[in-house]
Amino acid sequence: MNYSRVPIKHYEPESRVRSLDIQTLVPYTLEEVTAEASRCLGCGLCIEGCPARIDVPGFQIAVRNGNLAEGLKINFEKLPFVGVCGNVCPPRSLDECVLDDNKGPVATRHIKRFISDNVEDYRSTLGVVVNDLGGHPRVAIIGGGPSGLSTAFYLSINGIQVDVYEQTDRPGGMMVHGIPDFRLSRSTVQKEADHVLSYGAHIYYNKKIGRDIKFEDLLQKYDAVYIAIGNWRPSRTRTPGADLKGVYHALDFLGQINNGHKIDVGDTVAIIGGGFTAFDAARISLRSGAKKVIVMYRRAVTDRPGYPSSNAEEELEEAEEEKVEFMWEVTPIQYYGVDGKVKGIKYWKNQMVDTGKGRREPVPIKDKEYSVEVDTVVEATGQKGDLSFIPEEIMKRISLTPSGDVIVNQYNMTTYPGIFAGGDVTNARKDIISGVADSGRASMGILFYFKETGKIEKVPAKLVNFESGPYAENFYA
Ligand SMILES: Cc1cc2nc3c(=O)[nH]c(=O)nc-3n(C[C@H](O)[C@H](O)[C@H](O)COP(=O)(O)OP(=O)(O)OC[C@H]3O[C@@H](n4cnc5c(N)ncnc54)[C@H](O)[C@@H]3O)c2cc1C
Ligand code: SF4
Repeated sequence: MNYSRVPIKHYEPESRVRSLDIQTLVPYTLEEVTAEASRCLGCGLCIEGCPARIDVPGFQIAVRNGNLAEGLKINFEKLPFVGVCGNVCPPRSLDECVLDDNKGPVATRHIKRFISDNVEDYRSTLGVVVNDLGGHPRVAIIGGGPSGLSTAFYLSINGIQVDVYEQTDRPGGMMVHGIPDFRLSRSTVQKEADHVLSYGAHIYYNKKIGRDIKFEDLLQKYDAVYIAIGNWRPSRTRTPGADLKGVYHALDFLGQINNGHKIDVGDTVAIIGGGFTAFDAARISLRSGAKKVIVMYRRAVTDRPGYPSSNAEEELEEAEEEKVEFMWEVTPIQYYGVDGKVKGIKYWKNQMVDTGKGRREPVPIKDKEYSVEVDTVVEATGQKGDLSFIPEEIMKRISLTPSGDVIVNQYNMTTYPGIFAGGDVTNARKDIISGVADSGRASMGILFYFKETGKIEKVPAKLVNFESGPYAENFYA
Protein backbone atom coordinates (compact mmCIF):
# COMPACT_ATOMS: atom_id res chain seq x y z
CA MET A 1 0.00 0.00 0.00
CA ASN A 2 1.27 3.46 -0.86
CA TYR A 3 0.89 5.72 2.17
CA SER A 4 2.02 8.95 0.48
CA ARG A 5 -0.60 11.68 0.22
CA VAL A 6 -2.21 12.11 -3.19
CA PRO A 7 -0.86 15.56 -4.15
CA ILE A 8 -3.26 18.49 -4.21
CA LYS A 9 -2.63 20.39 -7.42
CA HIS A 10 -2.90 24.16 -7.80
CA TYR A 11 -4.10 26.03 -10.86
CA GLU A 12 -1.28 27.98 -12.55
CA PRO A 13 -0.54 31.08 -10.44
CA GLU A 14 0.12 33.21 -13.53
CA SER A 15 -3.38 32.63 -14.87
CA ARG A 16 -5.24 32.57 -11.59
CA VAL A 17 -3.98 36.04 -10.52
CA ARG A 18 -5.61 37.49 -13.60
CA SER A 19 -9.10 36.59 -12.43
CA LEU A 20 -11.14 37.12 -9.28
CA ASP A 21 -12.86 33.77 -9.54
CA ILE A 22 -10.38 31.17 -10.84
CA GLN A 23 -10.11 28.76 -7.92
CA THR A 24 -6.73 28.06 -6.37
CA LEU A 25 -6.97 24.30 -5.82
CA VAL A 26 -7.73 21.68 -8.47
CA PRO A 27 -10.38 19.23 -7.19
CA TYR A 28 -9.45 15.56 -6.83
CA THR A 29 -10.62 13.15 -9.51
CA LEU A 30 -12.65 10.11 -8.47
CA GLU A 31 -9.53 7.98 -8.69
CA GLU A 32 -7.52 10.43 -6.59
CA VAL A 33 -10.19 10.88 -3.92
CA THR A 34 -10.63 7.12 -3.57
CA ALA A 35 -6.88 6.64 -3.20
CA GLU A 36 -6.58 9.45 -0.67
CA ALA A 37 -9.59 8.33 1.41
CA SER A 38 -8.09 4.83 1.44
CA ARG A 39 -5.06 6.16 3.32
CA CYS A 40 -7.22 6.84 6.40
CA LEU A 41 -6.45 4.29 9.12
CA GLY A 42 -9.83 4.84 10.80
CA CYS A 43 -8.21 5.52 14.18
CA GLY A 44 -10.39 8.59 14.85
CA LEU A 45 -7.61 10.52 16.61
CA CYS A 46 -8.37 13.57 14.50
CA ILE A 47 -11.99 13.90 15.69
CA GLU A 48 -10.89 15.73 18.86
CA GLY A 49 -9.09 18.27 16.68
CA CYS A 50 -12.29 19.25 14.89
CA PRO A 51 -14.30 21.93 16.78
CA ALA A 52 -17.54 20.35 15.49
CA ARG A 53 -16.33 16.78 16.25
CA ILE A 54 -17.16 15.51 12.78
CA ASP A 55 -16.76 11.75 12.29
CA VAL A 56 -13.77 12.20 9.99
CA PRO A 57 -12.89 8.52 9.50
CA GLY A 58 -16.58 7.73 8.96
CA PHE A 59 -16.91 9.95 5.91
CA GLN A 60 -13.58 8.85 4.51
CA ILE A 61 -14.58 5.20 4.68
CA ALA A 62 -17.84 6.13 2.93
CA VAL A 63 -15.93 7.92 0.16
CA ARG A 64 -13.49 5.10 -0.33
CA ASN A 65 -16.47 2.76 -0.69
CA GLY A 66 -17.88 5.10 -3.34
CA ASN A 67 -20.82 6.11 -1.13
CA LEU A 68 -20.88 9.90 -1.38
CA ALA A 69 -24.43 10.12 -0.02
CA GLU A 70 -23.29 8.46 3.20
CA GLY A 71 -20.26 10.77 3.30
CA LEU A 72 -22.58 13.77 3.01
CA LYS A 73 -24.89 12.48 5.74
CA ILE A 74 -22.03 11.92 8.17
CA ASN A 75 -20.82 15.46 7.64
CA PHE A 76 -24.31 16.91 7.95
CA GLU A 77 -24.73 15.46 11.42
CA LYS A 78 -22.45 18.29 12.56
CA LEU A 79 -22.00 20.59 9.57
CA PRO A 80 -24.52 22.02 7.10
CA PHE A 81 -21.72 23.77 5.13
CA VAL A 82 -19.80 20.77 3.81
CA GLY A 83 -18.69 22.45 0.58
CA VAL A 84 -17.69 25.66 2.33
CA CYS A 85 -15.55 23.79 4.82
CA GLY A 86 -14.32 21.49 2.04
CA ASN A 87 -12.75 24.62 0.54
CA VAL A 88 -11.67 26.88 3.37
CA CYS A 89 -11.78 25.12 6.73
CA PRO A 90 -8.55 25.66 8.65
CA PRO A 91 -8.21 21.89 8.88
CA ARG A 92 -7.44 21.41 12.55
CA SER A 93 -8.26 17.71 12.37
CA LEU A 94 -5.57 17.46 9.72
CA ASP A 95 -2.96 18.68 12.19
CA GLU A 96 -4.01 15.86 14.50
CA CYS A 97 -3.81 13.12 11.85
CA VAL A 98 -1.48 10.30 12.86
CA LEU A 99 -0.02 10.32 9.37
CA ASP A 100 1.05 13.96 9.72
CA ASP A 101 4.68 13.16 10.55
CA ASN A 102 4.87 10.37 8.05
CA LYS A 103 3.82 11.00 4.47
CA GLY A 104 1.37 13.83 4.94
CA PRO A 105 -1.94 13.99 6.85
CA VAL A 106 -4.98 12.63 5.06
CA ALA A 107 -6.40 15.44 2.91
CA THR A 108 -9.74 15.44 4.72
CA ARG A 109 -10.73 18.92 3.56
CA HIS A 110 -10.18 18.09 -0.09
CA ILE A 111 -12.16 14.86 0.31
CA LYS A 112 -15.00 16.82 1.89
CA ARG A 113 -14.96 19.20 -1.08
CA PHE A 114 -15.25 16.25 -3.45
CA ILE A 115 -18.39 15.07 -1.67
CA SER A 116 -20.09 18.44 -1.91
CA ASP A 117 -19.04 19.08 -5.53
CA ASN A 118 -20.46 15.72 -6.55
CA VAL A 119 -23.76 15.61 -4.70
CA GLU A 120 -26.10 17.82 -6.68
CA ASP A 121 -29.27 17.74 -4.59
CA TYR A 122 -28.56 17.73 -0.86
CA ARG A 123 -32.18 17.68 0.18
CA SER A 124 -33.21 14.50 -1.58
CA THR A 125 -29.88 12.83 -0.76
CA LEU A 126 -30.16 13.57 2.95
CA GLY A 127 -33.86 12.81 3.30
CA VAL A 128 -34.09 14.86 6.52
CA VAL A 129 -37.35 14.34 8.37
CA VAL A 130 -38.68 17.50 10.04
CA ASN A 131 -39.52 16.85 13.69
CA ASP A 132 -42.69 17.74 15.52
CA LEU A 133 -41.80 18.55 19.12
CA GLY A 134 -45.34 19.44 20.13
CA GLY A 135 -45.15 23.20 19.79
CA HIS A 136 -44.01 25.85 17.39
CA PRO A 137 -42.18 28.58 19.27
CA ARG A 138 -40.47 31.30 17.26
CA VAL A 139 -36.81 32.20 17.14
CA ALA A 140 -35.22 35.35 15.70
CA ILE A 141 -31.69 35.00 14.40
CA ILE A 142 -29.62 38.14 13.88
CA GLY A 143 -27.11 37.57 11.08
CA GLY A 144 -27.16 35.34 8.00
CA GLY A 145 -23.55 34.12 8.20
CA PRO A 146 -22.53 30.49 8.75
CA SER A 147 -23.45 30.50 12.43
CA GLY A 148 -26.86 32.15 11.98
CA LEU A 149 -27.73 29.92 9.02
CA SER A 150 -26.58 26.71 10.73
CA THR A 151 -28.75 27.51 13.74
CA ALA A 152 -31.64 28.21 11.37
CA PHE A 153 -31.11 24.76 9.84
CA TYR A 154 -30.95 22.82 13.11
CA LEU A 155 -33.99 24.61 14.51
CA SER A 156 -36.16 24.38 11.40
CA ILE A 157 -35.60 20.62 11.06
CA ASN A 158 -36.99 20.46 14.59
CA GLY A 159 -40.16 22.26 13.54
CA ILE A 160 -39.22 25.59 15.13
CA GLN A 161 -40.30 28.75 13.27
CA VAL A 162 -37.20 30.76 12.44
CA ASP A 163 -36.78 34.28 11.07
CA VAL A 164 -33.27 35.40 10.11
CA TYR A 165 -32.54 39.15 9.94
CA GLU A 166 -29.62 40.02 7.67
CA GLN A 167 -28.34 43.56 7.15
CA THR A 168 -26.94 42.89 3.65
CA ASP A 169 -28.67 41.72 0.50
CA ARG A 170 -27.49 38.10 0.51
CA PRO A 171 -26.77 35.14 2.77
CA GLY A 172 -23.30 34.00 3.81
CA GLY A 173 -21.78 36.75 5.99
CA MET A 174 -17.98 36.74 5.75
CA MET A 175 -18.16 33.67 3.49
CA VAL A 176 -19.14 36.09 0.72
CA HIS A 177 -18.15 39.57 1.96
CA GLY A 178 -14.73 38.62 3.34
CA ILE A 179 -13.41 35.42 1.77
CA PRO A 180 -12.67 35.97 -1.92
CA ASP A 181 -14.30 33.96 -4.68
CA PHE A 182 -10.95 32.44 -5.76
CA ARG A 183 -10.82 30.53 -2.45
CA LEU A 184 -14.53 29.84 -2.03
CA SER A 185 -16.82 29.96 -5.02
CA ARG A 186 -20.05 31.91 -4.60
CA SER A 187 -22.03 29.06 -6.14
CA THR A 188 -20.93 26.73 -3.30
CA VAL A 189 -22.11 29.21 -0.66
CA GLN A 190 -25.38 29.87 -2.47
CA LYS A 191 -26.13 26.16 -2.95
CA GLU A 192 -25.57 25.44 0.75
CA ALA A 193 -27.41 28.54 2.01
CA ASP A 194 -30.41 27.74 -0.25
CA HIS A 195 -30.49 24.20 1.09
CA VAL A 196 -30.30 25.30 4.74
CA LEU A 197 -33.16 27.75 4.19
CA SER A 198 -35.31 25.22 2.35
CA TYR A 199 -36.69 23.70 5.58
CA GLY A 200 -38.90 26.70 6.34
CA ALA A 201 -36.68 29.37 7.89
CA HIS A 202 -37.41 32.79 6.47
CA ILE A 203 -34.65 35.32 5.84
CA TYR A 204 -35.25 39.08 5.69
CA TYR A 205 -32.53 40.88 3.73
CA ASN A 206 -31.45 44.50 4.17
CA LYS A 207 -32.78 44.48 7.71
CA LYS A 208 -30.25 45.75 10.19
CA ILE A 209 -31.19 45.26 13.80
CA GLY A 210 -30.76 48.58 15.58
CA ARG A 211 -31.43 50.56 12.39
CA ASP A 212 -34.51 49.01 10.75
CA ILE A 213 -35.84 46.95 13.65
CA LYS A 214 -35.37 47.44 17.38
CA PHE A 215 -33.69 44.63 19.28
CA GLU A 216 -36.22 44.96 22.11
CA ASP A 217 -39.04 44.37 19.58
CA LEU A 218 -37.47 41.00 18.73
CA LEU A 219 -37.49 40.10 22.42
CA GLN A 220 -41.22 40.89 22.53
CA LYS A 221 -42.12 39.06 19.34
CA TYR A 222 -40.00 35.90 19.63
CA ASP A 223 -39.52 33.19 22.23
CA ALA A 224 -35.71 33.23 21.89
CA VAL A 225 -33.08 35.23 20.02
CA TYR A 226 -29.76 33.98 18.59
CA ILE A 227 -27.15 36.70 18.01
CA ALA A 228 -24.75 35.73 15.20
CA ILE A 229 -23.59 39.12 14.01
CA GLY A 230 -19.94 38.19 13.51
CA ASN A 231 -17.18 40.79 13.78
CA TRP A 232 -18.02 43.65 11.44
CA ARG A 233 -16.54 46.66 13.25
CA PRO A 234 -13.01 47.34 11.93
CA SER A 235 -10.16 47.75 14.44
CA ARG A 236 -7.87 50.46 13.06
CA THR A 237 -4.19 51.03 13.89
CA ARG A 238 -4.36 54.81 14.48
CA THR A 239 -1.14 55.13 12.46
CA PRO A 240 -0.74 58.83 11.48
CA GLY A 241 -1.95 59.25 7.90
CA ALA A 242 -4.66 56.58 8.20
CA ASP A 243 -7.17 59.14 6.89
CA LEU A 244 -5.31 59.61 3.57
CA LYS A 245 -7.05 58.57 0.37
CA GLY A 246 -5.90 55.08 -0.59
CA VAL A 247 -5.78 53.76 3.01
CA TYR A 248 -8.44 51.16 3.75
CA HIS A 249 -9.42 48.69 6.41
CA ALA A 250 -9.44 45.16 4.96
CA LEU A 251 -13.15 44.62 5.68
CA ASP A 252 -14.07 47.64 3.58
CA PHE A 253 -11.48 46.79 0.91
CA LEU A 254 -12.49 43.12 0.57
CA GLY A 255 -16.17 43.93 0.99
CA GLN A 256 -16.13 46.39 -1.91
CA ILE A 257 -14.24 44.12 -4.29
CA ASN A 258 -16.24 41.04 -3.27
CA ASN A 259 -19.40 43.00 -4.06
CA GLY A 260 -18.27 43.83 -7.58
CA HIS A 261 -16.82 47.33 -7.06
CA LYS A 262 -13.49 48.11 -8.66
CA ILE A 263 -10.80 49.77 -6.56
CA ASP A 264 -7.93 51.48 -8.35
CA VAL A 265 -5.09 50.07 -6.23
CA GLY A 266 -2.20 51.47 -8.32
CA ASP A 267 1.06 49.58 -8.79
CA THR A 268 2.11 48.83 -5.22
CA VAL A 269 -0.08 47.76 -2.31
CA ALA A 270 1.02 47.28 1.30
CA ILE A 271 -1.04 45.07 3.58
CA ILE A 272 -0.61 45.62 7.32
CA GLY A 273 -1.21 42.39 9.26
CA GLY A 274 -0.42 38.68 9.09
CA GLY A 275 -3.64 36.69 9.51
CA PHE A 276 -5.91 35.13 6.88
CA THR A 277 -7.55 38.48 6.19
CA ALA A 278 -4.12 39.93 5.32
CA PHE A 279 -3.39 37.06 2.94
CA ASP A 280 -6.76 37.47 1.23
CA ALA A 281 -6.30 41.24 0.94
CA ALA A 282 -2.86 40.68 -0.60
CA ARG A 283 -4.06 38.15 -3.14
CA ILE A 284 -7.16 40.14 -4.11
CA SER A 285 -4.93 43.21 -4.64
CA LEU A 286 -2.96 41.29 -7.27
CA ARG A 287 -6.20 40.38 -8.97
CA SER A 288 -7.21 44.06 -8.88
CA GLY A 289 -4.19 45.09 -10.92
CA ALA A 290 -1.34 45.62 -8.43
CA LYS A 291 2.10 44.77 -9.79
CA LYS A 292 3.67 44.42 -6.37
CA VAL A 293 2.05 43.50 -3.05
CA ILE A 294 3.92 43.57 0.25
CA VAL A 295 2.55 42.09 3.46
CA MET A 296 4.05 43.99 6.41
CA TYR A 297 3.74 42.15 9.72
CA ARG A 298 5.12 43.12 13.10
CA ARG A 299 6.05 39.60 14.20
CA ALA A 300 8.31 36.90 12.73
CA VAL A 301 7.07 34.45 10.11
CA THR A 302 7.00 31.73 12.78
CA ASP A 303 4.97 33.95 15.14
CA ARG A 304 2.21 34.78 12.68
CA PRO A 305 -1.42 33.90 13.51
CA GLY A 306 -2.23 30.22 13.11
CA TYR A 307 1.40 29.10 12.88
CA PRO A 308 2.33 26.24 13.04
CA SER A 309 -0.51 24.52 11.18
CA SER A 310 -1.21 23.02 7.78
CA ASN A 311 -3.45 26.00 7.11
CA ALA A 312 -0.75 28.58 7.83
CA GLU A 313 1.67 26.67 5.59
CA GLU A 314 -0.86 26.40 2.77
CA GLU A 315 -1.79 30.07 2.78
CA LEU A 316 1.88 31.13 2.72
CA GLU A 317 2.63 28.69 -0.09
CA GLU A 318 -0.30 29.94 -2.20
CA ALA A 319 0.64 33.60 -1.65
CA GLU A 320 4.31 32.98 -2.44
CA GLU A 321 3.34 31.16 -5.64
CA GLU A 322 1.56 34.36 -6.66
CA LYS A 323 4.69 36.41 -5.82
CA VAL A 324 3.28 38.23 -2.82
CA GLU A 325 6.25 39.74 -0.93
CA PHE A 326 6.66 39.77 2.83
CA MET A 327 8.31 42.12 5.31
CA TRP A 328 8.33 40.34 8.66
CA GLU A 329 9.13 42.11 11.94
CA VAL A 330 8.28 45.70 11.00
CA THR A 331 6.20 48.44 12.64
CA PRO A 332 4.62 51.16 10.45
CA ILE A 333 5.20 54.62 11.97
CA GLN A 334 3.40 56.80 9.47
CA TYR A 335 1.52 56.67 6.18
CA TYR A 336 2.68 59.73 4.25
CA GLY A 337 1.03 61.28 1.23
CA VAL A 338 0.92 63.93 -1.45
CA ASP A 339 -2.22 66.04 -2.02
CA GLY A 340 -4.17 63.91 0.44
CA LYS A 341 -3.33 60.62 -1.29
CA VAL A 342 -1.09 57.99 0.29
CA LYS A 343 2.39 57.72 -1.26
CA GLY A 344 4.36 55.58 1.17
CA ILE A 345 4.94 54.14 4.61
CA LYS A 346 7.67 54.95 7.12
CA TYR A 347 8.48 52.03 9.37
CA TRP A 348 10.86 50.61 11.97
CA LYS A 349 12.31 47.14 11.98
CA ASN A 350 11.49 45.10 15.10
CA GLN A 351 13.30 42.60 17.24
CA MET A 352 11.35 39.70 18.67
CA VAL A 353 11.66 39.52 22.45
CA ASP A 354 10.88 36.48 24.56
CA THR A 355 8.93 37.86 27.54
CA GLY A 356 8.37 34.41 29.04
CA LYS A 357 4.58 34.88 28.57
CA GLY A 358 3.97 32.73 25.48
CA ARG A 359 4.26 34.32 22.04
CA ARG A 360 7.36 36.48 21.46
CA GLU A 361 6.67 40.20 21.43
CA PRO A 362 7.83 42.60 18.68
CA VAL A 363 9.85 45.57 19.95
CA PRO A 364 10.71 48.31 17.40
CA ILE A 365 14.36 49.30 16.96
CA LYS A 366 13.86 53.04 16.80
CA ASP A 367 17.43 54.13 15.85
CA LYS A 368 16.68 54.03 12.17
CA GLU A 369 13.58 54.73 10.06
CA TYR A 370 12.92 53.02 6.74
CA SER A 371 10.38 53.82 4.06
CA VAL A 372 8.64 52.14 1.16
CA GLU A 373 6.60 53.80 -1.59
CA VAL A 374 3.07 52.48 -2.03
CA ASP A 375 -0.15 53.50 -3.78
CA THR A 376 -2.57 51.71 -1.46
CA VAL A 377 -2.47 50.60 2.18
CA VAL A 378 -4.82 47.97 3.56
CA GLU A 379 -4.99 47.51 7.31
CA ALA A 380 -5.86 43.88 8.07
CA THR A 381 -5.61 44.54 11.76
CA GLY A 382 -8.68 42.83 13.14
CA GLN A 383 -12.34 43.47 13.73
CA LYS A 384 -14.85 43.29 16.57
CA GLY A 385 -18.53 42.60 17.10
CA ASP A 386 -20.82 45.64 17.09
CA LEU A 387 -23.39 45.20 19.85
CA SER A 388 -24.51 48.83 19.85
CA PHE A 389 -28.03 47.75 18.79
CA ILE A 390 -28.66 46.33 22.27
CA PRO A 391 -30.22 48.94 24.62
CA GLU A 392 -28.21 49.74 27.72
CA GLU A 393 -30.67 48.25 30.22
CA ILE A 394 -30.52 44.88 28.41
CA MET A 395 -26.77 45.12 27.78
CA LYS A 396 -26.22 45.48 31.54
CA ARG A 397 -27.43 41.90 31.90
CA ILE A 398 -25.22 40.46 29.13
CA SER A 399 -21.67 39.72 30.30
CA LEU A 400 -18.72 40.30 27.99
CA THR A 401 -15.09 39.18 28.07
CA PRO A 402 -12.47 41.93 28.55
CA SER A 403 -11.96 41.92 24.78
CA GLY A 404 -15.68 42.49 24.14
CA ASP A 405 -16.81 38.99 23.10
CA VAL A 406 -20.18 37.81 24.45
CA ILE A 407 -19.88 35.28 27.28
CA VAL A 408 -22.06 32.17 26.86
CA ASN A 409 -22.61 28.91 28.75
CA GLN A 410 -22.10 25.39 27.36
CA TYR A 411 -25.34 25.77 25.37
CA ASN A 412 -24.36 29.18 24.04
CA MET A 413 -26.91 31.01 26.19
CA THR A 414 -25.79 34.47 27.30
CA THR A 415 -26.23 35.65 30.86
CA TYR A 416 -29.68 36.93 29.77
CA PRO A 417 -32.13 33.99 29.70
CA GLY A 418 -33.53 33.38 26.21
CA ILE A 419 -30.78 35.31 24.45
CA PHE A 420 -28.25 33.01 22.81
CA ALA A 421 -25.15 33.94 20.82
CA GLY A 422 -22.48 32.24 18.72
CA GLY A 423 -19.94 32.53 15.95
CA ASP A 424 -17.27 35.22 15.82
CA VAL A 425 -19.08 37.38 18.36
CA THR A 426 -18.49 34.76 21.06
CA ASN A 427 -15.79 32.27 20.15
CA ALA A 428 -12.07 32.81 20.32
CA ARG A 429 -11.19 30.79 17.23
CA LYS A 430 -13.15 32.97 14.85
CA ASP A 431 -13.46 30.53 12.00
CA ILE A 432 -16.40 28.97 10.21
CA ILE A 433 -16.34 25.52 11.76
CA SER A 434 -16.22 26.97 15.29
CA GLY A 435 -19.24 29.17 14.48
CA VAL A 436 -21.08 26.11 13.20
CA ALA A 437 -20.17 24.18 16.35
CA ASP A 438 -21.66 27.06 18.37
CA SER A 439 -24.85 26.64 16.35
CA GLY A 440 -25.08 22.98 17.31
CA ARG A 441 -24.74 23.78 20.99
CA ALA A 442 -27.10 26.78 20.77
CA SER A 443 -29.76 24.76 18.92
CA MET A 444 -29.72 22.19 21.70
CA GLY A 445 -29.74 24.98 24.31
CA ILE A 446 -32.73 26.68 22.68
CA LEU A 447 -34.70 23.41 22.56
CA PHE A 448 -33.91 22.63 26.22
CA TYR A 449 -34.94 26.21 27.10
CA PHE A 450 -38.25 25.75 25.25
CA LYS A 451 -38.87 22.45 27.01
CA GLU A 452 -38.19 24.03 30.40
CA THR A 453 -40.45 27.00 29.67
CA GLY A 454 -43.23 24.75 28.35
CA LYS A 455 -43.06 25.96 24.75
CA ILE A 456 -42.50 22.43 23.40
CA GLU A 457 -43.53 19.07 24.80
CA LYS A 458 -40.31 17.15 24.22
CA VAL A 459 -36.77 17.44 22.96
CA PRO A 460 -35.46 14.98 20.36
CA ALA A 461 -34.25 11.75 21.96
CA LYS A 462 -30.83 12.01 20.40
CA LEU A 463 -30.40 15.55 21.60
CA VAL A 464 -28.33 14.64 24.62
CA ASN A 465 -25.02 16.31 24.22
CA PHE A 466 -22.94 17.86 21.56
CA GLU A 467 -20.61 14.92 21.15
CA SER A 468 -23.34 12.38 20.49
CA GLY A 469 -24.45 13.11 16.97
CA PRO A 470 -27.38 14.50 15.06
CA TYR A 471 -29.18 17.46 16.57
CA ALA A 472 -32.53 15.91 15.74
CA GLU A 473 -34.32 12.65 16.19
CA ASN A 474 -35.09 10.80 12.94
CA PHE A 475 -32.52 13.00 11.27
CA TYR A 476 -32.68 10.99 8.08
CA ALA A 477 -35.61 9.16 6.58
C1 LIG B 1 -11.01 37.94 4.86
C2 LIG B 1 -11.47 36.81 5.73
C3 LIG B 1 -11.04 35.54 5.43
C4 LIG B 1 -11.44 34.46 6.20
N1 LIG B 1 -11.02 33.22 5.86
C5 LIG B 1 -11.47 32.16 6.55
C6 LIG B 1 -11.12 30.83 6.19
O1 LIG B 1 -10.37 30.62 5.25
N2 LIG B 1 -11.63 29.80 6.90
C7 LIG B 1 -12.47 30.01 7.96
O2 LIG B 1 -12.93 29.03 8.56
N3 LIG B 1 -12.80 31.25 8.36
C8 LIG B 1 -12.34 32.33 7.68
N4 LIG B 1 -12.69 33.59 8.06
C9 LIG B 1 -13.50 33.75 9.27
C10 LIG B 1 -14.96 33.40 8.98
O3 LIG B 1 -15.40 34.07 7.83
C11 LIG B 1 -15.79 33.73 10.19
O4 LIG B 1 -15.26 33.04 11.31
C12 LIG B 1 -17.25 33.32 10.03
O5 LIG B 1 -17.81 33.85 8.86
C13 LIG B 1 -18.04 33.77 11.26
O6 LIG B 1 -19.37 33.40 11.09
P1 LIG B 1 -20.52 34.23 11.82
O7 LIG B 1 -21.78 33.64 11.34
O8 LIG B 1 -20.23 34.30 13.27
O9 LIG B 1 -20.34 35.73 11.30
P2 LIG B 1 -20.33 36.38 9.87
O10 LIG B 1 -19.94 35.44 8.82
O11 LIG B 1 -19.55 37.62 10.00
O12 LIG B 1 -21.85 36.74 9.62
C14 LIG B 1 -22.50 37.71 10.41
C15 LIG B 1 -23.71 38.22 9.65
O13 LIG B 1 -24.44 39.09 10.50
C16 LIG B 1 -24.86 40.22 9.75
N5 LIG B 1 -25.08 41.31 10.71
C17 LIG B 1 -24.16 41.91 11.49
N6 LIG B 1 -24.76 42.83 12.27
C18 LIG B 1 -26.08 42.80 11.97
C19 LIG B 1 -27.21 43.52 12.45
N7 LIG B 1 -27.12 44.46 13.40
N8 LIG B 1 -28.42 43.22 11.91
C20 LIG B 1 -28.56 42.27 10.93
N9 LIG B 1 -27.51 41.58 10.45
C21 LIG B 1 -26.28 41.83 10.98
C22 LIG B 1 -23.72 40.44 8.77
O14 LIG B 1 -24.13 41.19 7.64
C23 LIG B 1 -23.34 39.01 8.42
O15 LIG B 1 -24.04 38.53 7.30
C24 LIG B 1 -12.29 34.68 7.32
C25 LIG B 1 -12.71 35.98 7.63
C26 LIG B 1 -12.31 37.03 6.84
C27 LIG B 1 -12.77 38.42 7.20
S1 SF4 C 1 -6.11 10.65 12.36
FE1 SF4 C 1 -5.71 10.46 10.12
S2 SF4 C 1 -5.67 8.25 9.84
FE2 SF4 C 1 -6.67 8.52 11.82
S3 SF4 C 1 -8.92 8.68 11.35
FE3 SF4 C 1 -8.13 10.78 11.28
S4 SF4 C 1 -7.65 11.11 9.09
FE4 SF4 C 1 -7.80 8.86 9.37
